[in-house]
Amino acid sequence: MTYSMTPKNFRRAAVAGGAGFIGSLLCETLLSVGVDVICIDNLVTGSLGNISDLHRHTNFEFRHHDVIDPILIDVDAIFNLACPASPTHYQRDPIKTLKTNVQGSINLLDVARETGARILQASTSEIYGDPLEHPQAESYWGNVNPIGPRASYDEGKRCAETLFFEYHRQYGVKAKVVRIFNTYGPRMSRDDGRVIPKFIRQALNGETITIYGDGSQTRSFCYVDDLVQGLIRMMDSDDDLIGPINLGNPSELTISALAGRIIELAGSRSRIAFSPLPTDDPRRRRPDIGAALRELGWSPSVGLNEGLRRTIACFAAEPAALLEA
Ligand code: NAD
Ligand code: UDP
Repeated sequence: MTYSMTPKNFRRAAVAGGAGFIGSLLCETLLSVGVDVICIDNLVTGSLGNISDLHRHTNFEFRHHDVIDPILIDVDAIFNLACPASPTHYQRDPIKTLKTNVQGSINLLDVARETGARILQASTSEIYGDPLEHPQAESYWGNVNPIGPRASYDEGKRCAETLFFEYHRQYGVKAKVVRIFNTYGPRMSRDDGRVIPKFIRQALNGETITIYGDGSQTRSFCYVDDLVQGLIRMMDSDDDLIGPINLGNPSELTISALAGRIIELAGSRSRIAFSPLPTDDPRRRRPDIGAALRELGWSPSVGLNEGLRRTIACFAAEPAALLEA
């Protein structure tokens, strides 16, 4: 992807979770504007394939490391994206999800505290839980079930936000928090479990599309290139901008409409089947991105049809065996 600006406030960045879907595109984009990159990842959901092209850059380094263990790095910016993001993945080992969000954040914040590096937390719209306010602005405190199956992720991310704000208040760490809303794109793993890669895989294979609930729940999907631009802008913003700032595409649709859209764009003859809605599945989600526009001059530019077309084309170009994952 292209990013026109060379960051003015950092030259050497660590990307924790850099071998994942968003992280690998972030690494690639940072390298393209001359930033040195250290990618830190334990490969639990990321892959070496995502970063294989990056090794041609002499200023790229990969460290196979779990963020729940302390780390020493010499950088001036740290992006913390380390955490499985798909409900399927983060619910597989919920205690590890909590440790990753809490202990992992502490370890990276300690590096920022010691080195003076700026540090950005990839937080989430799950902070708002099953929201009672719509659309969701940063001022909304959320409606999260602290003991449900999504809590390891939601409460872990909420605690991470608290840690970022306390490290800022107590130690003066240059902390920044963005809340990412559903983001999709070509590099999502084929067994990711999240709705867009799953529906595309099903549509391309002519399998039944599995809608949970009656399909009337909504989401607002952001194309990954747009999101990465927002992450870099936030990291490069003035020290006094801490956030939280929502990053997402406010164009909202039901999951039924999404299924129809993917079937049509993939030219598929898949049928649709309905099964029960998972516990605590948020009913509606749409970001208020007024703050991102005001503070960062950021808004998304890739519409859903265009983003889906690009993603479907990449999935369709994969060998069939990968699509069966
Ligand atoms: P992903 O699962 O593809 O990426 C997460 C990366 O973190 C993977 O490479 C994984 O191996 C790595 N990781 C996980 N635990 C780790 C640990 N303990 N130590 C080191 N590395 C670890 O998911 P993604 O969609 O690219 O999400 C990236 C970040 O953005 C996550 O923190 C996620 O919570 C956040 N986010 C994503 C979305 C979205 O819609 N994609 C929405 C909200 C927030
Ligand atoms: N979903 C679905 N069928 C699937 C996977 C997901 O209907 O096979 C629904 C899910 O119940 C949710 C929405 O799609 O309402 C988005 O799910 P995803 O796991 O992508 O992300 P979430 O926003 O729930 O974290």
